[in-house]
Amino acid sequence: MTKAEKALRDELVARCRELNSSGINQGTSGNISVRFGDLMLISPSATPYDEMTADMVASVALDDTSGAYEGPLKPSTEWRFHQKLLRERPDANAVVHAHPTYCTTLAITRRPIPACHYMIAAFGGTDVRCAGYATFGTEELSILAIEAMKDRTACLLANHGMITLGESMAKAMWRAIELEAIAKQYYLSLQIGGPIILSNDAIAEAMKSFSGYGLQETK
Ligand SMILES: [Zn+2]
Repeated sequence: MTKAEKALRDELVARCRELNSSGINQGTSGNISVRFGDLMLISPSATPYDEMTADMVASVALDDTSGAYEGPLKPSTEWRFHQKLLRERPDANAVVHAHPTYCTTLAITRRPIPACHYMIAAFGGTDVRCAGYATFGTEELSILAIEAMKDRTACLLANHGMITLGESMAKAMWRAIELEAIAKQYYLSLQIGGPIILSNDAIAEAMKSFSGYGLQETK
C-alpha cells in the first residue's frame, strides 16, 4: 500500500469517527467514500466506527459495477451511489452519506430545503433538492441521487437521509454538518410561521462571497 493510500484510509477512519462525534450519524448508517485514482475507498458495511481500522476500508474500482471489491469487509451497502457520484462528478473527490435527524425529517416529508438561509449557497444553488424514493443500495437510488445533485453538492433522499459531495473529505464533511444545521433551522422556522425565502439575487451575492470560504471553515 502506498503512503498516499494509507493516508487517505487513515483520514477516512478519522472522518467516520467525526460523523459520530458531530452527532450527524445514527447508529452505523453513515458512510464515507473518497477517490483514489481509478478506485473508490469506502467505509465497510455495518462496522462500528470506533472499531474500524484503515485496513478494514474497502476498495472498489470506479468502473466496475459488478459489486467486486477488495478488503476484509464488504463495502457499505450504499456503495452504488458513492461510486456513481465519484464517476459522474469529476468535481467531487469525496462523498458523505448519513441519516441525521433534521435532514431525514425533511426527507420523510419530501421537502427540499429552500433559500431560508444564505448558507444554502454552500451547496451550489438556491435550494437543496430531495431525491425521489428508491430502496437503499439500488441502482435506481443512484440514478435519483445523481439527478437531484445536478449543479449541487448536496441532496436529501426521500424517506432516507442525505448526501454531500466535496473536493476533499474535509469539505464533504463540512457540508454535511452545515446541511444538518440548515435543515434544523428550516424545520424550526416551519414551527413559527414559516421562513422568509431569500431572493435569487441574494443567493447569487452569497455565492460570490463563498469562493475559498468553505475551505477556511474546515481548518
Ligand atoms: Zn442510508
